[in-house]
Amino acid sequence: MSKLMRRAGWLPIILFLPLVIFAQDQAWQVVKSTHFNIFYKNAPEDVLNELTQKAEECYDSIADELGFNRFNFWTWDNRAKIYLFDNQDEYIKATQSFDWSGGQVRISAKLIQSYVGAPGFLHNIFPHELAHIIFIEMVGFNNPAVPLWLQEGVATYQEKDIHSIKAVLADKIRQGGYLNLDALSRFAVKGSSDEQVKLFYAESYSLVKYLIAEFGKEKFVLFCQNLRDNRNLADALRRTYSFSSLDDFEDSWKKYILA
Ligand SMILES: [Zn+2]
Repeated sequence: MSKLMRRAGWLPIILFLPLVIFAQDQAWQVVKSTHFNIFYKNAPEDVLNELTQKAEECYDSIADELGFNRFNFWTWDNRAKIYLFDNQDEYIKATQSFDWSGGQVRISAKLIQSYVGAPGFLHNIFPHELAHIIFIEMVGFNNPAVPLWLQEGVATYQEKDIHSIKAVLADKIRQGGYLNLDALSRFAVKGSSDEQVKLFYAESYSLVKYLIAEFGKEKFVLFCQNLRDNRNLADALRRTYSFSSLDDFEDSWKKYILA
């Protein structure tokens, strides 16, 4: 490379530097929809339009599927927040996420974060994380009656690529290889094998599906209200569904899966 070319090569970099610094300091801009404030920096308009439309559709369908559509949680100042970073690098730097992460939620802040073009965000990650927020608003924050499996079950129930897992769970139950309710309640994702984590999510999903498919949305709303008001899982299951105990609930679910 000649000296001249080297110099010519430097020039655009020097000129570009102030722009880069400007881009990093750039303030967030916001678009507001009925239930969301969407913060962005350089996201293209079509991306923002799609996200806004999808977010509202998703809110409506989750509220509808869980029977929460009588309650309009968030408008005006209560809107949930979405931060859409320009790219994966900025997202990971700002959120300290793993490099495979396409999105993350901070439930108590009603905040979902992702980046432009994150794979699977609109169809799976966003519905899952939004369901976490909506469900917790319904049953109350830091409610000891709401185990992780119930939260993940409700959230996974919203994902669009869940296929029938009844047959898989039926085999696990027949072979005695499933996680019983006690094991589900004590389950920690950290330190568990990938297969155990998959089973945890599948069963959590299936238990929620069982309650909604067999007994309907109205009862599920009542169940959530009982959880919120009495803060006791066995009590909420008994009052809402007449399960005499947690064991009774588990046995009924197993019958449903094996039927
Ligand atoms: Zn989750």
